[in-house]
Amino acid sequence: MEFTLPELTYAYDALEPLYDKETLTIHHDKHHAGYVKGLNNAMAKLAECRESGDYSLIKHWEREQAFHGAGHLLHSMFWENMRPGKDDNKADGELLAGIDKWFGSWDKFVAQFVAATCAVEGSGWGVLASCADGSLHVFAVENHQKVWVQGLKPIMVCDVWEHAYYLKYQNRRKEWVTNFMKLANWEKVSARYESCKGSKEC
Ligand code: MN
Repeated sequence: MEFTLPELTYAYDALEPLYDKETLTIHHDKHHAGYVKGLNNAMAKLAECRESGDYSLIKHWEREQAFHGAGHLLHSMFWENMRPGKDDNKADGELLAGIDKWFGSWDKFVAQFVAATCAVEGSGWGVLASCADGSLHVFAVENHQKVWVQGLKPIMVCDVWEHAYYLKYQNRRKEWVTNFMKLANWEKVSARYESCKGSKEC
């Protein structure tokens, strides 16, 4: 069993000028591909452990599996939850109602999401997550897999590893995150929110 790099559903320059072609190409073809490779390697090493019965390095390979596996899943969602930018980009319907309920208003949600995402220490992600009860939560996830509540499901993610924005934005992380909000594909996020509600996972 092998994990594979998902193909983008849009052209490399489709998110210009907010997300530039060069960053997108390197990010998808090199960085995301690297996580897929790392995940497959960890899975192969764990298979070797099972074969030989030698589990002396299991802690190492489990950590590799968690790091690369979370990296693979988050990047797969990241590509999906972007589309060509819109200045008046905003959620609607049930998701907007949920955002009003759990964050007070759309503007308060955006302010919290941008602040949390900009505050990630080092490399990580801003994540909007949900749960079977329809609750909504914002987290600043460190690396790909740290600072997380088990049972929550990410429904929108913003990459703030420097590889995600440095070529165009350099140290201006807030400008990148603010522009990301114009790229967010709220129809996809809404669909994930709907499928979360009523599920049996929390
Ligand atoms: Mn990345």
